[in-house]
Amino acid sequence: MVVQLDLASDTVIQLAQTHKPKPDPNGLVFGTVFTDHMLTIEWILEEGWQKPHIQPFGNLSIHPGCSALHYSVQLFEGMKAYRGPDNKVRLFRPKINMKRMLKSAHRACLPSFDGAELLECIRKLVEVDQDWVRATQSPHNLILTIFSFLYLPTLGVKKPSKALLFVILSPVGSYFSTGAKPVSLWADSKYIRAWRGGTGDCKMGGNYGASIYAQYEAVDYGCQQVLWLYGDDQQITEVGTMNLFLYWINEKEEEELATPPLDGIILPGVTRQSILELARKWGEFKVSERYLTMADLRQALGENRVREMFGSGTACVVSPVGRILYQGENLHIPCEGSFPPLASRLLKELTDIQYGRTPSDWSYIV
Ligand code: PMP
Repeated sequence: MVVQLDLASDTVIQLAQTHKPKPDPNGLVFGTVFTDHMLTIEWILEEGWQKPHIQPFGNLSIHPGCSALHYSVQLFEGMKAYRGPDNKVRLFRPKINMKRMLKSAHRACLPSFDGAELLECIRKLVEVDQDWVRATQSPHNLILTIFSFLYLPTLGVKKPSKALLFVILSPVGSYFSTGAKPVSLWADSKYIRAWRGGTGDCKMGGNYGASIYAQYEAVDYGCQQVLWLYGDDQQITEVGTMNLFLYWINEKEEEELATPPLDGIILPGVTRQSILELARKWGEFKVSERYLTMADLRQALGENRVREMFGSGTACVVSPVGRILYQGENLHIPCEGSFPPLASRLLKELTDIQYGRTPSDWSYIV
């Protein structure tokens, strides 16, 4: 298989003749508006990667036999661009997204590529559409970049002979536009998000499409998201599409920030990795990647040892958990107002880096 994508310098740019009006970030519904341009790069088995094209945003023309539609031979990634007070646009640790995308490509039998070259193509696309990343004092006016890989064009459960990599950009408003309220979770082992040997540690569309049903059941139970459990011992794994952290006094009476280990069923989040690295750098409490079960949590709540619980992800950075519905019982997680102290501190430190208020080698300037 020809695997090199080393063509960023060959990118063909065709600018849009007309520009769409930029939306008001207040009231902007996630994923409904897209910018003026997109990036497409085709791959053909015998020839390898073709020239990247930055072109006006528009529909793709897809063969109805496309394996992505039938068998979900597909992957995606997501990250954000931020405009700082210095007017520069930055990506946050995008090389980790490239690494994760390569892992997903490998698992999906999609062609490999040079992550640095793809990142340069993405940088060029964001540069072309950078007016969509609005300058603001508020930390919530930014653009979300989504990129997807699609396998074209014939039926048959087999490795692709053709693939299309495309990147589209969508502005997002404030994640906490209605105020930062702790989320409520439905914890039940009826549905499983991921399992050992599966694809839960990759960003493949099938993982997400298959989770919608459980999400609506959570809503039927009056909860906002699913707390995904795993195994007979009901390990706590992830929440909705976020990684999960528990800040508590553990069984050994140690102050600990804990998150489940990357053992194949956890998506290796960029935010998760950043929180672990920041907290380890502070050196103020134990930071662990360890198993946590519902029994551990229930016992710790009974003994008043839980300080905070929060999800982490690109969309929200951190999202505190306030309540878990488990076996018909509401478990209340301490929240001290709407945003507890550790979650607040992490939110501030991470957004300061993302917006360039704190200089960091985690920033990638566009
Ligand atoms: N878990 C899942 C299942 C996700 O889809 C995401 C979002 N990519 C995350 C965790 C958080 O990852 P990140 O911090 O890279 O956004």
